[in-house]
Amino acid sequence: MEFTEFNFHPKVAAGVAAAGYVTPTPIQSRAIPTILEGRDVMGLAQTGTGKTAAFALPILHRLMNGSRGHTRALIVAPTRELAEQIHTEIGNLGKATGLRSITIYGGVSINPQIARLRQGAEIVVACPGRLLDHIKQKTIDLSHLDVLVLDEADQMFDMGFLPDIRRLLKHLPAQRQTLLFSATMPQEIRGLAKEVLRDPEMVQVDLVAPAVTVSHALYPVDEARKTDLLLALLEHTDTGSVLVFTRTKHRAKRLGEKLVKDGYKAASLQGNLSQNRRQAALDGFRDGRHQILVATDIAARGIDVSKVSHVINFDMPNTAEAYIHRIGRTGRATRSGDAFTLVTIADRAMERAIERTLGRSIERRSLDGFAAPTDTATSLTPSKTHRNSRGCQPTGKREYGNASSGKPASDRSKNSRGQRRFSGRPSKPAAASSAGQ
Ligand code: AMP
Repeated sequence: MEFTEFNFHPKVAAGVAAAGYVTPTPIQSRAIPTILEGRDVMGLAQTGTGKTAAFALPILHRLMNGSRGHTRALIVAPTRELAEQIHTEIGNLGKATGLRSITIYGGVSINPQIARLRQGAEIVVACPGRLLDHIKQKTIDLSHLDVLVLDEADQMFDMGFLPDIRRLLKHLPAQRQTLLFSATMPQEIRGLAKEVLRDPEMVQVDLVAPAVTVSHALYPVDEARKTDLLLALLEHTDTGSVLVFTRTKHRAKRLGEKLVKDGYKAASLQGNLSQNRRQAALDGFRDGRHQILVATDIAARGIDVSKVSHVINFDMPNTAEAYIHRIGRTGRATRSGDAFTLVTIADRAMERAIERTLGRSIERRSLDGFAAPTDTATSLTPSKTHRNSRGCQPTGKREYGNASSGKPASDRSKNSRGQRRFSGRPSKPAAASSAGQ
């Protein structure tokens, strides 16, 4: 299938061509024709599947007809980052259309948003809280709305936004098209779908199955040695951009600081940052100034950095769905990626839950000097002896770092300016240690 088969308005088709999209992704080939018919859609798709364009393109096509200067499409997203990402994609795809898109979210002044709303934007991408503020202050008029999109609905539920969504629905015209996207389908999202969708078409792509281009590995470790293990992994794995997840904001901040102290170009992204600092951390990660970004689940929502080579779960996520979301940041589109998870004895139940969700067991690996906690080691699937695609050390083959040098690994990897060898350069010991595949 080709994009030309959708018969988009020439100005929308121009956007597709400018973005360089040739073949629609599975969610796009399945959802776009239904959305173009005007039907409601329940899209079960995780981030990285092309779901943004799946709803953005038919919306742009629809808005080419009809009046301008009113809000006719509303896209509700759980985080500012995701809202910005959607807005950017709409801006790129809709460049030739003359349609205007704006973002609305909290943490920044409301006045510029009011000014832009007054100028008349046909597409509004909003987070629920600030959107309700605008509704209360009557600074947004949603009476002309044609299409509502609720994106990453399961995340909105996790973040406690469902009451806000229900409040919002009361202010929207009943006659509208509604598109609901979610990576997973917990009971609460089923309930929401029943309330908001009329005779929806269900479009499901890779339900809770991560991108097949991602390879997974677990690294059993004692809690107290996690930081050392992370440093060893970073040092001996050939990586591009690395996204590290921690359980709490505090841990993200501390770990980010530790990595910087150790010579890495790292930043942390957590809820306590001002919008400007969040944006600076994200921009730095996107353009490669920061090679490592340490984030919490919530802060990382909406991160769209297509070149993330490794996702490292410093702390195990709380749910299997969160694991899928996290690793959705690597292996996007056709790129391959690696997902490493540091696991302690306390994480065993979650390991099993994730393996059940993936439908297979995950390879256990360990680095010499980081033996698995004893009772974990005996109960786990035996580690495999093949290396991953980026030359990561297999279990028990040899010591990471050059044992004969007698220096701690952290000293050996620094160059003359005390900076790390890092991006794109496999460290010698790891490269030399590759085992048979
Ligand atoms: P999403 O799931 O919407 O976050 O999209 C994931 C990534 O895939 C984004 O960087 C998009 O720009 C890209 N993308 C979306 N659709 C296509 C397509 N048909 N061909 C190539 N890349 C695409």
